[in-house]
Amino acid sequence: MKKYFRIVIIVAVPVMLLGMLYMSRRSSGVVEVNSGFRVVMGTFSRVVVIARSQRAAQRCIEAAFDVQNRIEALMSDFRADSELSKVNRLAAQGPVPVSEMTFEVLQQSVHFSTLSEGAFDVTVGPLVDLWRKAGKMDVPPTDEALAEARRKVGSDKLILDEKNRTVRFAVAGMRVDLGGIGKGYAVDKAVEAMRKCGARGGLVDLGGNIRCFGRPPQDQERWRIGLQDPNVAPDEFGGTKPLLILALANESVATSGDYRRFVKVQGQKQSHIIDTATGQGANKLVSDTIIASDATTADALSTAVNVLGLEKGLALVERVSGAEAILIPAGKEAQLIFSRGARAYLVPSSEAARPDEK
Ligand code: ADP
Ligand code: MG
Repeated sequence: MKKYFRIVIIVAVPVMLLGMLYMSRRSSGVVEVNSGFRVVMGTFSRVVVIARSQRAAQRCIEAAFDVQNRIEALMSDFRADSELSKVNRLAAQGPVPVSEMTFEVLQQSVHFSTLSEGAFDVTVGPLVDLWRKAGKMDVPPTDEALAEARRKVGSDKLILDEKNRTVRFAVAGMRVDLGGIGKGYAVDKAVEAMRKCGARGGLVDLGGNIRCFGRPPQDQERWRIGLQDPNVAPDEFGGTKPLLILALANESVATSGDYRRFVKVQGQKQSHIIDTATGQGANKLVSDTIIASDATTADALSTAVNVLGLEKGLALVERVSGAEAILIPAGKEAQLIFSRGARAYLVPSSEAARPDEK
C-alpha cells in the first residue's frame, strides 16, 4: 500500500506540476516544453524549449533532434556507412571528401589538440582500440603494441585540405575517434537550430553535454544544472542527489571522468580517456567539469583537462576565454577544486530547490 502511494505521488505530482506550469506559461506569453529523453549517439538526449506557442516549441524540438540525428549519421563510429567510418577506411590511401559539418568538427579537433598540446587528440583511435581489446581479453597491451599504436596517433598526421574539403591520413592504420567532441558539437548545432526556428530560450542535454541559452524557465533567473556526485551510486531511478548546482545563462557544461565508463584489465580500472603521451588511461582526476561559452569547447576541454590533471588542466582553462573548471583530483579525500571564476556559477545550497538535472 505504501509503495502504491509512493508511485501515485511520483506520477501524479509531476503531472500536476507540469499542468500548472503549462497553464502559467500560457498567461506569461510563452510555454516551456520538455522533450523527454530520446536516444542519440548511444546516449540520452533531452531538449527544453521556451517558445511563444506549443506548436513553435514542438517545431524547435524536432529541429534540434533532426540535426543531432544527422550528425550521428555522419560521425558515428559504429555505423559502417557513416562519413567518419569512410574516412577511417580510406583516408590513408588518399584525400576523402567530407561534408561541411564533419570538416568543421575535424578542424575544431585540431584546434583543441594544438591548444592542449596534444592532451586532446581525435587521432587517439588506435590506442582506444588497443585498450578495448585489452579489456575484452583481460590482458594489458605489450610495450611494443603501445609504441606501435602511438606511431599512428597525432593530429599533425591528420591532413585537412580546406579548399577541397578533404581529409587524409599521413600514416596507415590511423583512426579518428570523435567520442570526446562529437556530442558537444551536436549540442551546439541543436541550439543553433532551435534559435533559428524561433525559440526564446532553451536547453540541450546530450549525455551530460549541456548548453543553455536565452530565456530561462519561469520564476528562475538562470538555467539550473545539477552536477552528479561521482562518489555516490545512482538511486533506483538512475539519479543522484546533485553534488553542486550551477546557474547558467548562455553557457555550456560538460563533465569527463572514469567513474562510469571504464574497462577493467586484470582488476585495474582503465579510463576510456587516454593520455596519448604515454598510451595509458588518464588517471589524474576522478572527474572534471568544464563551463564554457559553447558545448564543443566544454566537451573537448573536459577530455583534455582529464588527461592533464590539476595544474596543467587549470592552466589550459585559464587560456580559454570564458572557460572555468571544477575538478575532483584522484586520491582518498576527494576535494573540489575551482578555477578562478567557477564559484560565480554556484547556486548557494539554501537556494538549490529545483535543479534541471544533469
Ligand atoms: P564521455 O564520452 O564519457 O562524455 P569524454 O567527452 O571525455 O567523455 O570523451 C571520452 C571519449 O573520447 C573516449 O571514449 C574516446 O572515444 C575519446 N578519447 C579518449 N581519449 C581521448 C583523447 N586523449 N583526446 C580526444 N578524445 C579522446
Ligand atoms: Mg569530452
